[in-house]
Amino acid sequence: MFASDNYSGICPTAWLAMETANQQFVNSYGDDKWTAKACDALRDFFETDCQVFFVFNGTAANSLALAALCRSYHSVICHEMAHIETDECGAGEFFSNGTKILLVPGESGKINPVEVTKTVQRRSDIHYPKPKVLSITQATELGTLYSPDELTQIGDLARNHSMHLHMDGARFANALAGLDVSPKELTWQAGVDVLTFGGTKNGMAVGEAVVFFNRELATEFDYRCKQAGQLASKMRYLSAPWVGMLESGALLQNAIHANHCAQLLAKELLSVPTIKLIHPVQSNAVFVQLPQSLVDALQDNGWYFYTFIGSGHARFMCSWQTSINDIKTFGEELRKLAQTGK
Ligand SMILES: *Cc1c(COP(=O)(O)O)cnc(C)c1O
Repeated sequence: MFASDNYSGICPTAWLAMETANQQFVNSYGDDKWTAKACDALRDFFETDCQVFFVFNGTAANSLALAALCRSYHSVICHEMAHIETDECGAGEFFSNGTKILLVPGESGKINPVEVTKTVQRRSDIHYPKPKVLSITQATELGTLYSPDELTQIGDLARNHSMHLHMDGARFANALAGLDVSPKELTWQAGVDVLTFGGTKNGMAVGEAVVFFNRELATEFDYRCKQAGQLASKMRYLSAPWVGMLESGALLQNAIHANHCAQLLAKELLSVPTIKLIHPVQSNAVFVQLPQSLVDALQDNGWYFYTFIGSGHARFMCSWQTSINDIKTFGEELRKLAQTGK
């Protein structure tokens, strides 16, 4: 249950929204009232006239967005642990016909601005793929958050180097919940040009929104989606959940709950002296170092979590479906296993 937030099911609000949209015949390919409403709901949410597209998953959202911002001879700068680098099977490079991804290091999953500048300025000749996009992840792959100030600094950095700013927001709702600021402060006001906004990990069945704050960059994006096999004919089932989740506030509530669960889970884990926290818990992920014997014992007892994300530490994820009771039970079993292991 702690392996990933996409192990969770569909939350009741998203389910109800799909059921509500499941009436009679409706126009296909996004020409329907649910999709129109979802776009408007996102415009209200971000308090700006953004352009919105719905695709099936995060890999498509990210790689099509990057392809829209780049030509094949450009490059995208991102953190070395970014999902677009480590978990998308080269889709970004594929859909942009060869755009190169350039990696920069940084503490706890956040890019180091000095390293970005170095990477941009390393070369300016024709033999080097021209940096065109800075891509950041919020919340990061390591569960940490860029503060509004850090984002503003990154926005300026991108602009000063004539790069577009892309944000991978597979867990954007968790970032919002963690920082308690308005959606616009974390996006267009900080200079984000395009956000890939995750619905799936928050509690929807399927689907991510690609939100262009810079509308010019969205030119012909619908063709990209279609060509990539990402234009849903029964679009209402991708879009209606956004209406339900935004109008009811469930999107933020789910994230608040998941983040709270991560705090509780961290407490349980840290009650065992041999377990060390690796990154600050700022969203719905807990990264710890724990003895291999304990990893094995927990997994033998049916507690699933990943040990291959980031620097090889154990990652525990919480979601809308994580229950406080589960966390208590986990803590009790953990302490028992830790004791018998000695
Ligand atoms: C889960 C995730 C995605 C999306 O992955 P898909 O499996 O393609 O939906 C994108 N970025 C990050 C940081 C993620 O954690």
